[in-house]
Amino acid sequence: MPLPEAFDYAEPEGMGLELGDQVAAPLGPRLLRGVVVALRDAHGGNRPLKPVEAVLEEPRLPPGTVEFVQWAARYAVDWPGQPLAIALRGARAPKPRPLKVLEATGAAPARMTPAREKVLVAAASHAHSAAELARAAGVSAGVVKALADEGVLAVRYLEPEESFPTPDPSRPGPALSASQAAAAQALRDMVGERRFGVALLDGVTGSGKTEVYLEAAAAALGADPDAQVLVLLPEIALTQAVISRVADRFGAEPGEWHSDVAPPARRRVWEAVAAGRCRIVVGARSALFLPFRKLSLVVVDEEHDASFKQEEGFIYHARDLAVARAKIEDAAVVLASATPSLETLRNAEQGRYRWLRLEGRHGEARLPDIDVVDLRETPPEPGRWLSPPLVAAMAETYGRGEQTLLFLNRRGYAPLVLCKACGERLTAPDTDSWLVEHRYTGRLVCHLTGFSMPKPAACPHCGSKDSLVSIGPGVERVEEEARERFPDARIAVFSSDTVFDAREGKRLIEAMAAGEFDILVATQAAAKGHNFPNLTLVGVVDADLGLRGGDLRAAERTYQLLAQATGRAGRREKPGRALLQTWAPEHAVMAALKAQDRDAFVAAEMAEREAAGLPPFGRLAAVVASGTDPVQLEDFVRAMAQAAPNSPGVEVYGPADAPLGLVRGRRRKRFLVRSDRTVDLSAYMATWRARVKPPASVRVAIDIDPYSFL
Ligand SMILES: [Zn+2]
Repeated sequence: MPLPEAFDYAEPEGMGLELGDQVAAPLGPRLLRGVVVALRDAHGGNRPLKPVEAVLEEPRLPPGTVEFVQWAARYAVDWPGQPLAIALRGARAPKPRPLKVLEATGAAPARMTPAREKVLVAAASHAHSAAELARAAGVSAGVVKALADEGVLAVRYLEPEESFPTPDPSRPGPALSASQAAAAQALRDMVGERRFGVALLDGVTGSGKTEVYLEAAAAALGADPDAQVLVLLPEIALTQAVISRVADRFGAEPGEWHSDVAPPARRRVWEAVAAGRCRIVVGARSALFLPFRKLSLVVVDEEHDASFKQEEGFIYHARDLAVARAKIEDAAVVLASATPSLETLRNAEQGRYRWLRLEGRHGEARLPDIDVVDLRETPPEPGRWLSPPLVAAMAETYGRGEQTLLFLNRRGYAPLVLCKACGERLTAPDTDSWLVEHRYTGRLVCHLTGFSMPKPAACPHCGSKDSLVSIGPGVERVEEEARERFPDARIAVFSSDTVFDAREGKRLIEAMAAGEFDILVATQAAAKGHNFPNLTLVGVVDADLGLRGGDLRAAERTYQLLAQATGRAGRREKPGRALLQTWAPEHAVMAALKAQDRDAFVAAEMAEREAAGLPPFGRLAAVVASGTDPVQLEDFVRAMAQAAPNSPGVEVYGPADAPLGLVRGRRRKRFLVRSDRTVDLSAYMATWRARVKPPASVRVAIDIDPYSFL
């Protein structure tokens, strides 16, 4: 509920309430689910309190979870009910059906083959579903099915207690390089201290960070039979690969937690985490709110990734909250990245975090050579997007039977449709956002609001026929050009429009890794974390894309994204190459990428931030007020500006029209607040918010440490 704090209730005689209990409590005429967040003696109180109705037959939230939820609400300047609802998401999902597994019956197969033997070995370790069994044994589903048909394997339904097998940290890990081994030892030492501590695991793409942090997980699991480990990932598309790595390393499937997991399965994970049975979770940002009983280690993989920032509803950054939760739980944190955020690098430079640097790429692989294509000198032909040098490199690569990744971080066919008769740019209704043309579906889509419509035959503004033209490229348009230029090549597109879920994404990634495509055109969804052994050329179609609009982190984000994308090339023995198409080859980001000099880029960027007092050298918060009635909104933001507390070290800018001034019929106004690092900006914002009450037509959202400035 949108309430500033918890309500008080009386505890009926003999109920025996404990902190974290889920209860049914009356609110007005309704009975609602609530959580006990504090207990105190109330003698001397003169208000009669309503009694709690009943304790629910549901797992209790551990004290660390209760404390974390309240801390998160205070930090984000939001109602405590918001993070609590996230923490209870699994508890409110429908009950799962019993899990179906296959077990060896003891009967001998009529015919033994190496593949069948592998299945029986895997089946002997613990109970697997048919799909897990095939994966664990590395055989096709047909081998497993044949054994089941023969009666060598039989179906059994697992009790809930059995659904998460105990991981075995004593299984031998992979051979590590000297640099990996040193980092792994440092992490083991940190985990061994059994108290709060943070390490930055810093290594180029392909340096083997996952193997290293799994050693930290092994140390945590081995040191304490109750210890739990959380691995946070920025993208659902990456979870499957990490789940396989965890299963291989510890011989047990981890719990999987993200929005694509079906609600009953989510509930199974939630209950097992609360009971301490599920000891490793791999998930997206909201996994941070699971009811861990004994959280010992949190890994934030790709810690720099902006996807860790939740921008709607409860606004938070999962990396920052992970560090906070670990502090509450006395747990260790590993932040892993090839291109760490400036915030994390600053903490490492200042000695607040341990800084572990992995040297070079693992094994034989070398970093790709990166070249800049100056589009002023060698532009593509009119109406095309691939420059002559990039096309020539693609032809060479294709000729050698190797793969090319064309990277463009823009979905659809064209980012803008305009009428050449009247100049109208098509936007979503009541929204300042261009409609993006999608040719696969034949629709125009607003990526902001989700609005879509079939592409009209005539201009909706002036009625001219055949006057609408597509401006600029998205991945679908680059694919079209690649097909025209290489008609015999096998070409695929990877973006969130062509790949609908984690399973489909995994299939496409595996097909690419197996060499089933010659050219993959992809948005950032495919640019992260994957290994494509035969990929030797990465072409960045528009390296300047992220620099336009120019917010605080534009250069940092562009550097990170392009370093990730170009790092896909040459992951194995074959040398890789990357070409960046740019109109601004002298820009610091392009120069740093070409020279492969991250430190110089970071130093220059840090100096600029320090001079401006911006993060990580100062703090920022944003306020977005939106309303359907422009007059009421204007009056409210004016009153809000006057109510801003005077405080040393705090500057308030605004109100100003938001760059995205109209969304779904609501006008938007913004304030930006900058403060010195020593200021408790959350407390300042809470004081400010309490001084003004918005009218019913106005919504106010506070964003601590904003990543979006739209
Ligand atoms: Zn028109």
